[in-house]
Amino acid sequence: MAKVLCVLYDDPTDGYPTSYARDDLPVIDHYPGGQTTPTPEAVDFTPGQLLGSVSGELGLRAYLEGAGHTLVVTSDKDGEGSVFDRELVDADIVISQPFWPAYLTPERIAAAKNLKLAVTAGIGSDHVDLDSAISHGVTVAEVTYCNSISVAEHVVMMTLSLVRNYLPSYQVVLDGGWNIADCVARSYDLEGMHVGTVAAGRIGLAVLRRLAPFDVKLHYTDRYRLSEDVERELGLTWHESAEDMVPHCDVVTINAPLHPETEGLFGDKLLAQMKRGAYLINTARAKIVDRDAVDRALRSGQLAGYAGDVWFPQPAPADHPWRTMPHHGMTPHISGSSLSAQARYAAGTREILEAFFAGRPIRDEYLIVDGGALAGTGAHSYSVNK
Ligand code: NDP
Repeated sequence: MAKVLCVLYDDPTDGYPTSYARDDLPVIDHYPGGQTTPTPEAVDFTPGQLLGSVSGELGLRAYLEGAGHTLVVTSDKDGEGSVFDRELVDADIVISQPFWPAYLTPERIAAAKNLKLAVTAGIGSDHVDLDSAISHGVTVAEVTYCNSISVAEHVVMMTLSLVRNYLPSYQVVLDGGWNIADCVARSYDLEGMHVGTVAAGRIGLAVLRRLAPFDVKLHYTDRYRLSEDVERELGLTWHESAEDMVPHCDVVTINAPLHPETEGLFGDKLLAQMKRGAYLINTARAKIVDRDAVDRALRSGQLAGYAGDVWFPQPAPADHPWRTMPHHGMTPHISGSSLSAQARYAAGTREILEAFFAGRPIRDEYLIVDGGALAGTGAHSYSVNK
């Protein structure tokens, strides 16, 4: 029997919800491209419930305990003597979400002698040291596609929010004001702008598709080119590298995983190559950009706006400079944890666990590391330190 250690974010400050804003979720059984949404044998939750917080338990308790396993759920994941560190020592499986990542460092992986499986209930397994997972034979799996569209919607929202100066204008209303000029002195139309994505995978391509009807000029860079049909359909311009692409763009959105090739990509040098007054949207991972270089670029006017929901570390400390830099539209890490997304990644986590316990292969598209090497999606989209 296995010990499953699940690290989830805290419940709402006024307690776990007893009712919700809406009564149902749309039924989605396929993602764009045809991959099926998760197919566990059963789930023990109602889609639309809060599942990603401690009391939501990803809907896993009845299933795991019914099968004789032990489930430990905590939000206490960092700092000396955390519950996570204490419980990790004999855990067989760790589950955490990128929004509240249980950082599986080399030291922690070495200390977790029984660890066989690290599940990311979401997408993006950079909180797991993949080199150590490989060398210790730990399988790493994530619920590929579960929240890609959720994030793409967030990117579109943030793009429009920055370009049209939505958040400061909303603040004027909250403050009881009506100075139109204060609102519009930084407000533009997106129409006609050049928008580029760093990476056109599931999220990046979904962003391009969603922005095409705004009559923008679309650009992308990726390690592999999209098909000619897709390039033609969306009128895409491909660039060899981010360095080649950014001078052409009014808006740049980052949709690549964090791995050695992308870490620190947007530093002073690349930011200086962007058009003055460009907007940068990063819902991928904070460490793809240089924290202080972004702050400087906003203060100098090199960037007109920065938005996203990814920080390092998470949770971000109260004095993190991105909380107070000018012209930002940051949120906590929420884009991939809508109630809609939670239903999919909770079901996907259950599907992964069912396969693991039954000794069946985990879907190839969910795998990042398996059998001591990058595998499945991980082999395609990630790199490790050589
Ligand atoms: P995909 O694997 O579908 O796409 C990632 C794309 O990035 C692939 O096309 C990959 O290229 C490309 N890529 C990798 N390295 C580079 C590079 N050095 N330069 C250019 N392109 C590169 O993943 P998703 O689109 O679903 O997710 C992307 C990332 O978004 C996740 O890894 C995660 O970090 C983040 N994310 C954030 C969420 C949030 O809540 N904010 C939620 C979900 C994801 P190729 O395949 O061609 O090698």
